[in-house]
Amino acid sequence: MRENNKGRLFILSGPSGCGKDTIMRELLSRRKDICLSISSITRPPRPGEIPGEKYDFISKEKFENMLLNGELLEYNTYLGNYYGTPKKPIERWISCGRNVLLEIDVNGARKVRETMSDVLSIFIMPPSMQVLRERLTGRSTDSAELVEKRLQAAIDEISCANEYDYVIVNDNITEAVNNLEAVINADRFSYKSMEKFVKEVLENAKSCDWQAAGSI
Ligand code: 5GP
Repeated sequence: MRENNKGRLFILSGPSGCGKDTIMRELLSRRKDICLSISSITRPPRPGEIPGEKYDFISKEKFENMLLNGELLEYNTYLGNYYGTPKKPIERWISCGRNVLLEIDVNGARKVRETMSDVLSIFIMPPSMQVLRERLTGRSTDSAELVEKRLQAAIDEISCANEYDYVIVNDNITEAVNNLEAVINADRFSYKSMEKFVKEVLENAKSCDWQAAGSI
């Protein structure tokens, strides 16, 4: 129902270890109307990460070329690596009515909101810092030093949650995904989503002779 039947852009942010990835995967398996934006990043893949699934792992040189050529909607550096959102696939999907999910950090989210006005942003929170620490330590792919850096980065990110439209606590994955879907579904009935329909009804009303029809 959005103007020109364009797709919608959803931003999902939250600190590392809050369960964003699992939530995102579950959402994408439930919702075939949503495509995931594949970020180009310069950190090496973690064990089990498949290139092209969530990230394209590229060299610093290639990333800087993309940046120079204006191919990125936004980018940021995180713990010494570049992370960026390629512009073209998003423009293509949105223009043909597909909804797109960006899983990006708070700085990236800020930049996207500056460029694109029509964005729904959702922040995923851990139930507590204690739980976040346990999740990050339990992951065992990162060194103790990196876990501390991620915790500090988490505090910085959580203090930006006020910039988001919705905040969802991930205490239980199924509940968190249900809540995320509820937000996405409710968004279809926001005034912004229904604006075109409301205007069409009003436009149609102008062309009717209501008094002659005795309807009012
Ligand atoms: P990780 O290395 O743990 O996969 O991701 C680190 C952070 O980078 C996460 O907060 C994640 O949301 C963010 N991130 C992933 N892709 C992008 C992107 O394309 N742009 C920005 N700005 N952040 C991203």
